[in-house]
Amino acid sequence: MDSPAKTDADFPPIATQVHEQRIVGPAGAEDVHYTAWCTLKGQSVPVSSCVPCTQRERVTIDPTGRRSEVVCRMPPPAARPEPEGGAPWMQAPVSELMTGRVISVRTTLPVRAVLMVLVEHGISGVPVVDAAGRPVGMVSITDLLREQYDQIEDEEDELLPYFARGAVQRHRAGARPDAHLHLTAEDIMTPSVFSIREDARVCDAAREMAKRRVHRLPVVSRSGAVVGVVSALDVTRWMAAGLPGPAEEGP
Ligand code: SF4
Repeated sequence: MDSPAKTDADFPPIATQVHEQRIVGPAGAEDVHYTAWCTLKGQSVPVSSCVPCTQRERVTIDPTGRRSEVVCRMPPPAARPEPEGGAPWMQAPVSELMTGRVISVRTTLPVRAVLMVLVEHGISGVPVVDAAGRPVGMVSITDLLREQYDQIEDEEDELLPYFARGAVQRHRAGARPDAHLHLTAEDIMTPSVFSIREDARVCDAAREMAKRRVHRLPVVSRSGAVVGVVSALDVTRWMAAGLPGPAEEGP
């Protein structure tokens, strides 16, 4: 006799990590969004939608971000098929190794504030997002150094006679001498950022980074909003964890 079909309520409770997306805007404005991967819906969902969900057992938001989780009755994440002769760990979804606590900046954030974000959080790059949280570019330490270099060059040019190369160029371009003070993330970012879907595989992320010659990619939900960041280092660590050998020593 066939056993009765399993309903969602029959699944044992499982804990899912909550991801935190922090978006820094001008004048100290900061938006924080919490999301979790929902196997019932097959996508990241706002944690606010877990609160009224009938499958929910518990929602915990830890201010330090280390132990934030949703405990609910939903099917466990599907096991990925292992490719013949391939590396099974490369088939895992990007959402399993991405940095789930991601900080982004608005396009209008002044450059000095972007620098503060990078230094305060000890990161070398940050996604730039539009009003809907979709990535439109990336600002890295390299972009900031380039902007500083241009600024120093401009200041040196101002010491030269008016007809010197830099002054003539600025005059033709209609540039203001204090223009650098008004630059924002949008002005110095590397635009048209490439992103990857959270359900893409690790090998897809590795291939995309190699093809685009970038070191990190924003990870986006189905709606296109940033839910994480995956870096070349994340992929390397993920691969190393799958290799046979002595267990990794702690930091
Ligand atoms: S509580 Fe409901 S909406 Fe939230 S992850 Fe679980 S099943 Fe999905």
